[in-house]
Amino acid sequence: MKVGSKCNVRTHAYLGPMSVARVEPLTTARALRGPFDYSIPERLAGIEVGDVLQIPFGPRRILGVVVEVAETSELPPERLAEPIRILGSGTTPELVDLGTWIADEYCSTPSRGLSMMLPPGTGAAGERIRAKTEKSASITPAGEEALGDGTRLGAKQRAVLEMLLDGEASGAKIRDGAGADSSTLKRLVERGLIERQDVSVRRRPVSAAVGSAAVDAPDLSKDQQVAVDEMKLAIEGGEAAEYLLAGVTGSGKTEVYLALVEEVLRRGRTAIVMVPEIGLTPQAVSRFQARLGDRVAVLHSALTDGQRYDEWQRLRSGSATVCVGPRSAIFAPLENLGLIVVDEEHDSSYKQESDPRYDARDVARRRSEVNGALLVAGTATPRPETWARVKRVELPGRVDGLGMPPVEIIDMRESDPRGGPIHDRTMAALVEVRARGEKAIVMINRRGFAPWLNCRTCGHHWGCPNCDVSMIVHRESGRLVCHHCNHFEKLARRCPQCGGTTLSQSGAGTQRIERDLAEHLAPMPVIRLDADTSDGPGGHGRILSAFDQADSAILVGTQMVAKGHDFAEVTLSVILDADATLRFPDFRAEERTFSLVTQLAGRSGRGELGGRVIVQTLAPHAPSIEKAANHDSPGFLEGELQRRRLLDYPPYSHLIRIQLGAEDEGRVAAAADRVAALVGDGLTEEDSLLGPAPMFRARNRYRRRILIKTGDRRATVTVVRDAVDSLAQEGAFRKVTVSVDVDPQ
Ligand code: ADP
Ligand code: ZN
Repeated sequence: MKVGSKCNVRTHAYLGPMSVARVEPLTTARALRGPFDYSIPERLAGIEVGDVLQIPFGPRRILGVVVEVAETSELPPERLAEPIRILGSGTTPELVDLGTWIADEYCSTPSRGLSMMLPPGTGAAGERIRAKTEKSASITPAGEEALGDGTRLGAKQRAVLEMLLDGEASGAKIRDGAGADSSTLKRLVERGLIERQDVSVRRRPVSAAVGSAAVDAPDLSKDQQVAVDEMKLAIEGGEAAEYLLAGVTGSGKTEVYLALVEEVLRRGRTAIVMVPEIGLTPQAVSRFQARLGDRVAVLHSALTDGQRYDEWQRLRSGSATVCVGPRSAIFAPLENLGLIVVDEEHDSSYKQESDPRYDARDVARRRSEVNGALLVAGTATPRPETWARVKRVELPGRVDGLGMPPVEIIDMRESDPRGGPIHDRTMAALVEVRARGEKAIVMINRRGFAPWLNCRTCGHHWGCPNCDVSMIVHRESGRLVCHHCNHFEKLARRCPQCGGTTLSQSGAGTQRIERDLAEHLAPMPVIRLDADTSDGPGGHGRILSAFDQADSAILVGTQMVAKGHDFAEVTLSVILDADATLRFPDFRAEERTFSLVTQLAGRSGRGELGGRVIVQTLAPHAPSIEKAANHDSPGFLEGELQRRRLLDYPPYSHLIRIQLGAEDEGRVAAAADRVAALVGDGLTEEDSLLGPAPMFRARNRYRRRILIKTGDRRATVTVVRDAVDSLAQEGAFRKVTVSVDVDPQ
């Protein structure tokens, strides 16, 4: 352990047995390597691991987190400074460990790792947000006596005392109920008949479920019961265990989670339930709240600061014992954790895309090991890594006993390109849906009207001035938009190069499909769901409920339409350009395509009306599409794992990606070569270094990537960290930004 202190020498009044706090400073400086020792004076006795301190640091005062309390320091006592004060409520020792673990594991800094563990709102001045309190009053024994024995009381005084016989009440409530003002209360306090105290008031997250009656658990199906029983054994064992709950959409996975949560609560332990982005899964959250009531705390970004603070403190104090939320819920300050659920474990939102680039599914495994907790990952489309590694329990069929809908693949290679993006057979199926007054979902995973704008005369193509991508036509706003950096321009009518006015908009996005469908299928309403229409709070829910309430309608949108809802009247799901995701140069493209097609197929035929699925594609024989059409997850996964083994990709190796960026192209190229050389020296023969890959430009900066394939993630992260640190020391690369992504998505 490195110790040291850059603080001024001080003399100490207190010379008893020394106590030392090892403190990790919360700073953005990457080069700083803590922790640093501070001596604990008597006035701060009781400092614990997890406390947030204000500390002198050189000439400044900054915040730090106590990561260890020790009896001695390697430095002489007179070199140690004292913390200034303790701030707020701090975090738990387990989360301190977790924060430093994340820093190590994902090539980040302890400061960034620890910051995620602190109470919401902890900033430069400590906890910016505080508990909200309210003055309330309660009756004293003397007050109760006074009511009975004819003591002289004014009418208002009597009314207040009578009211308080039912229990304590807030000032406002007393004013409304007994018509008494503060002077009446003051006199009652002086006479010793009531007591006033501060009570904290919970800022309750608004949720659809609040107020609705607790919903009773249904009798579990046989498959559900078998799954629950097997996993209960693991809970009884009290040791870390991990299961994949593989169940098709509608197989009743959520009921299994609920039964397991109830089981761990019965045993006096606590639970975390992670769901993909909360905006997309309001139904999941409200089901937990409806069943478990106030024992559930939710943590997500749509809460106000005050609500988030209160929910966090409820978890910390133990008044809430279940945390439901997106990936950050894995940092819930719960003690005695007995269960972690990762719902829709294939979802890419579990990976954080900014430093620290942690994967909440791996963090979950770590917490389950540390706590001896059960980890359950549920999905209809498991990741190959999970399938290969984790013990499975399966829910093979839908709870309602309905079969999976038949899937028809339409080979678009054979269709007339002038026919437009929607095949005649698809259109005919949609017309039938209209005739029967039912509903359909159409997915095209690209927003905007058309992905390309070209000049017919000279071939000029509109690209983003800041990024190496094309600009997307957005007809609604009359703009060309870069989906990378959001740069936009007025939609051109004339070519800037040759002056030509015949411009072609090629390809299709959600806006174009919406228009085409509305033209062909009027008067059936066409409702669009994508990032442009669902922007703003509640936007997503509003659109889904409009679709829900319509008698007969089409929902068209990006992959948002494939997630987190369940409409019985949907009898047709359509996927256009299903291989679009396959064209990404990424080894996960197959996995992603399979998952998207399967998830969307699962949205059709959830009611008695039955349903069907149409998949339009240029790659009808791609395994990801064929196997999805056959509802054959095991078949897909076995094949995919074989392919990964041949290519030595995860789960048979780990990937670490280093990205360098700067405004100056030459500087990036030089930095990439330097890092590649530094890393190359540290790697073993089993590791391989791929790249530097070709330069690309995004947000007006040049970027270059280096990819490392390794069998030993920990050791290689250390090599990368050293390389990156030493690059940072070289003046020539001062303006080059470096980011490291361990197990990138
Ligand atoms: P999944 O999460 O696997 O997609 P859900 O848990 O959402 O499936 O279940 C699908 C539907 O079936 C829900 O409406 C749920 O309330 C209902 N359900 C689940 N289990 C049962 C059961 N044992 N008996 C009756 N209905 C059930
Ligand atoms: Zn751009």
